[in-house]
Amino acid sequence: MPELPEVETIRLGVERRLRGRTLTDIELHSSRATRHEADLSAYAELAGRRVLEVARRGKFLWLVLEDSPRALVLHLGMSGQLLALSSPLAAPLRHAAATLLTDDGGALAFVDQRTFGYLRTSPLLPTPDERPGGQGTVLPDVPEVLAHIARDPLDPHLDTGAAAERMGGTASAIKRVLLDQRYVSGIGNIYADEALWAIGLHPEVPAAAIPQEQLWELIRTAAEVMRAAVEVGGTSFDALYVDTEGEAGYFARELAAYGQRGAPCRRCGTLIEKLVVGGRATYVCPSCQTRGWVT
Ligand SMILES: [Zn+2]
Repeated sequence: MPELPEVETIRLGVERRLRGRTLTDIELHSSRATRHEADLSAYAELAGRRVLEVARRGKFLWLVLEDSPRALVLHLGMSGQLLALSSPLAAPLRHAAATLLTDDGGALAFVDQRTFGYLRTSPLLPTPDERPGGQGTVLPDVPEVLAHIARDPLDPHLDTGAAAERMGGTASAIKRVLLDQRYVSGIGNIYADEALWAIGLHPEVPAAAIPQEQLWELIRTAAEVMRAAVEVGGTSFDALYVDTEGEAGYFARELAAYGQRGAPCRRCGTLIEKLVVGGRATYVCPSCQTRGWVT
């Protein structure tokens, strides 16, 4: 499943292709992909409008369109791809859920083999904190259907202190808390393990036992690891993850903990072990990821 860096990589690609372009048509190929929309005429309202911004909050993307009170919201699900085409095809791509046609003669195909992804339209509402709605937008608006999604560590407008305070209020293992969308959104299994390794913290330490400053540093570290992943196009954990140009990501070769069972820790040489925390495969260095905080 794509995690934040992969979705952000795709957002950057969509932004390069669509920002400033006019959507000449939105072709829908799959009723499953529009399962959350009662009235499909909403899409016709969006055609003919210029794309002003391509924004993201958590793993959701949305297009802000000129003079439109509604945004086009996309979720990639388990296997969704957004593929840039230099010209529209005579027939939709295999597994295509929708195709967005643009006034430069190009197109963006939403391809989703496992069909957990979807698109929908949603009215834009003012953000309660009056800050921009997410990454990629300067407008203090967020689609109504995303208003309940917490800001993520890549979002420059995340209130890191408040997120650290929420996390410190629970006795659950820190790995579970990092994955729990109620505290901070969008940290998935790969980047939770990488952030805990980077900061030298054991995944089973109760969040409440970790000082606030270290929780704050952990969120910042997760953001740094994810930004480094965006730099190389994300992690291609399976063949289905590619960016808008069809390219795989290269962060897999940078992974220090995730998936590294039996490999020597890059910091201390101890072999990386695999545990299960909160039902999720978890990779840890048993020597230098401490159970208590050591400064
Ligand atoms: Zn180590």
